[in-house]
This record gives sequence, structure tokens and C-alpha cells, in this order.
Amino acid sequence: MSDALHVLVFGAHPDDCDFSAGGVATLYGRGGHRVKFVSMTNGDAGHHEIGGIELARRRLGEAQAVARVLGLAEYQVLDNHDGELEPTLANRRQVIRIIREFQPDLILTPRPNDYHPDHRYTSVLVQDAAYMVTVPNIVTLTDHLARNPVIAYVVDRFRRPYPFTPDVVVDVGPVIERKLDALHCHTSQVYEWLPYNAGRLDEVPSGETERRRWLAQRYLSRFENVANDHRSVLARWYGPARAEAIRYAEAFEVCEYGSQPSAEDLRRLFPFFPDP
Ligand SMILES: [Zn+2]
Repeated sequence: MSDALHVLVFGAHPDDCDFSAGGVATLYGRGGHRVKFVSMTNGDAGHHEIGGIELARRRLGEAQAVARVLGLAEYQVLDNHDGELEPTLANRRQVIRIIREFQPDLILTPRPNDYHPDHRYTSVLVQDAAYMVTVPNIVTLTDHLARNPVIAYVVDRFRRPYPFTPDVVVDVGPVIERKLDALHCHTSQVYEWLPYNAGRLDEVPSGETERRRWLAQRYLSRFENVANDHRSVLARWYGPARAEAIRYAEAFEVCEYGSQPSAEDLRRLFPFFPDP
């Protein structure tokens, strides 16, 4: 399929891409497009009982399970230490190489203002790779791109220096169960570390079915908030009547350092909307 899109999603940890873009990844996959997730770190720090090699290998296994659930082209986990990611030249070169090899039409990444340093520096590394991917004398042995890809930020709730302002909001209601199935693969995160860190480990049920139900209760409101917070942008893309009925969403804000897309370009890059 020659008009298949290549969509490259960056996150800091093995689960970040899933939370921010698990819904659109499923939609792209169903449309015959190729999606790759990249975790900039191996996730070997975020846990209260295990760490190092044991945790990193467990997180890699969980990411690979997600790749099967979401139908990803690949879920790449880079072997950088969790909690210690820095915007170094070596890491920038790594990101440039990944972008050039996958030749994305669209890159999704976090914004640079975030509570977690790994999230911040993932964003900075992608920003620093933008434009440089087109310069032949940078990372010379990996062919440069003819054109800077379009880059968009994934949703967050940080208010400073300015609140997330999406250009595109996508209805992920039809695939929300699949997104939850992907999150369900991250046992060491969603049923262990994240509830431990939030002081609610005692709430997590032990049975598989009960856990999956608890997961939905715990996280669906987050995706519901995205639809509620950005309903006017939903209306722009789906029309007001349809937008009113949308319950779960993922949202994206165009980054100024990538190619600047027209509304028509955005319709091609996010092929999910009814005709205007
Ligand atoms: Zn993270």
C-alpha cells in the first residue's frame, strides 16, 4: 500500500506511548498504516521491589506484548537508564537515526514541560532532531530525509508556560477497549508501580478479570477528560452534533519545529474524520 502513513511515537518509558497514542495507533493499524513506538529508556527504575536487569527485561516483554495487541510495526525500547535520560549529543544522534530509518510522515512526542525529567528530555531530544534529520553532514552514514516530518505533541495537563492547545482531537471511543488491553499488558506499571507510587496498591485486585475492570475504572476518566477539555476542537473536525457524543479522545498539538501542515495535510495525516 503506497499511500500508507508512517507514524513514529516517542515516549520516555515503556507505557508512555500507549497512554498518549494507543487509540490512534489502533486506528492507524486498522487503516493499513505503519506505527512504531519508541521508549527512550528501558524502564529499569520505576518500581518499589525490583530494578536493573530484571525490571528492564520485564518491561521489554510487556512492550512486546503491547506491539502484538496494537498491531504495531515495532515497539523499540532503547537501552538508556530510566530516570537518567539527558539531552546529550549521543542521544540526539540516536533519535536522528531512528527517525531517518523509519521515515515518518508524522512524529508524536511529549511537550518539554512536564513533571518527569525523562519526559522533558524525550521532548527536547525530538525537538533537537527536527530539522537536523534533513542535514546530510549530521549522522552521515544514515541517509538524510528530503523533508522535515510533521511533529505533534501529545496531550498533557500542565499549565505553564502555556496550557496544551490541540490542533487535532481524535475520537478513540471505538477502540478504547483495545487501548485498555494494551495498558493491561504493562502489569509492572499499572498494577504494581503506579498504584504503589500513588499510595493505592491495596486497591488493586488480584484476579485477571477483576484487574482489567479496575484498570478501566482507574483510567477511563483520563481519556474522557481529553474529550471534555477539547470538545470545541472535536467539533471543528467532526461537526458539532457528532462531537457532542464523543466520549474518549486523544489530542495533538502541532510543534513549530517540524513541517507546518495545512488543514488538508492534517486530514491526510489523521485520516479519521468525516468529509467536511
Ligand atoms: Zn513516563
